[in-house]
Amino acid sequence: MKQLSAEEHNDYSQISAALHPIIKNEFGEKVYGSWLSKLSFYAFENYEIILSVSSKFLRDWIRREYLHKGGRGNKGINGILTSFSSEIKKVAIIFVAQKQPEVSPTVTENLQSPSVSSISKYDNVFPFGVELNKRYTFKNFIAGDSNKLALKVAKAFCEKSQKNSFIYNQGNPLFFYGGVGLGKTHLSQAIAWHIKDHDISNKILYLSAERFMYQFVKSLQKNDLMDFKQIFRSIDTLIIDDLQFIAGKNGTQEELLCTISELISNKKKIILLCDKHPNNIENIGKKLKSILSGGLVIDFKCPDFKTRYQILRHFNKALLPDKELDKKIISLLAEKINSNVRALEGAVKKLAANHILTGEDVSFENAKEVLNDIIISSEQKCNVEKIQKIVANHFSIKISDLSSKSRIKDIIIPRQIAIYLSKKLTSKNISEIGLKFNKNHSTIIYNIKKSEEALANNQEFKNIVIKLEDKITSK
Ligand code: ADP
Ligand code: MG
Repeated sequence: MKQLSAEEHNDYSQISAALHPIIKNEFGEKVYGSWLSKLSFYAFENYEIILSVSSKFLRDWIRREYLHKGGRGNKGINGILTSFSSEIKKVAIIFVAQKQPEVSPTVTENLQSPSVSSISKYDNVFPFGVELNKRYTFKNFIAGDSNKLALKVAKAFCEKSQKNSFIYNQGNPLFFYGGVGLGKTHLSQAIAWHIKDHDISNKILYLSAERFMYQFVKSLQKNDLMDFKQIFRSIDTLIIDDLQFIAGKNGTQEELLCTISELISNKKKIILLCDKHPNNIENIGKKLKSILSGGLVIDFKCPDFKTRYQILRHFNKALLPDKELDKKIISLLAEKINSNVRALEGAVKKLAANHILTGEDVSFENAKEVLNDIIISSEQKCNVEKIQKIVANHFSIKISDLSSKSRIKDIIIPRQIAIYLSKKLTSKNISEIGLKFNKNHSTIIYNIKKSEEALANNQEFKNIVIKLEDKITSK
């Protein structure tokens, strides 16, 4: 770093002296007191002003939240300081460990450390959150019977209005659960985008449970725990994906419990996503389990045929805009791929790739051939036989009992559950399910109705169904 000339030095001291009053004035007492007061003037080089903080958390937080946004004009520290003086073209925030001697601006030799100047050139990405996917918006989320409750709740969650007040106030934490590829990540990111678009000051943090643990452990190792805590407690909307990851990780669970409890008591919003119902996450503490199930728990179901059809049309438009796939192809896919929206997307992608690369037209026969493996694996994943086997196993009865005429209670209940789950988790219609259980149309409908009633009124029944569904869809 070059020696400052007298003139430059004069500029430097002026800027240095003005720095804190300007920032405080622009960002207000609260933000300044919590975060920005910790900035120290580090150096001034080639029109770049370098500010330092004593922890990496703080550096990353300030970079992400305040360097390019925030303040009265939403110009961020960078915008504020560059408009303050024409001598400043850029602002960098770096981390300098506290045990290093304070760098006096006049002792320019100290600033020659190559590591420091190179750090200031990196525009490190914030290490906590993940980038939101631009495609995961409400607009791109296709509603159907199977997900309309989830969608309504998601919309109510991000807008405080009289109509939504129940969900807005009671649905915290909001807990989305269900098998893979059913749209949990998509819908929770849609909430994040919506909040971002409508409330610029709302601090949203979206990260996976694995990332939460990684940051937590790292902060323990680096003695940065207080900053970690402070950052997590200053968030307005916290979204944690793939929560199942914390099973068995006791320390992380404790920290998460503290974070969630504190955010809830400060009326901040929390969304948690998991592949299981809170009661079925193994190896988690009682308190955490109770807080997770104490908010609003919403189940993501496999979309029904009609919704799958619409989702396929949506993917068709997005991935192959110039080619409308034949109705027969869409129906075939919607019928055969019934357990996962991601697999629907994969099927259209494969057709599109084949069409683009080979120039072949997408005929029904051609589609069947191209997608054979996807169709077979989807059929194997969830079928009536598999459901019958898992349910019979769970109740220690014979598979054949499920399709027998037995009226014993020990058989009636498992049969009801197996029929209900066959309707819910496969694409078979009532008559086809009837054939598999050796029952007529009205008996199948009766069994489904009975299960739905029991699900609404009997917690024990509900727990068993949730557990079985989890087993069926996760294997
Ligand atoms: P999950 O988090 O439940 O595993 P994702 O949210 O990652 O599932 O969804 C998998 C893929 O399916 C994503 O590309 C997502 O955009 C798409 N998807 C899921 N549900 C829908 C829906 N209802 N409408 C449109 N796309 C959907
Ligand atoms: Mg996901």
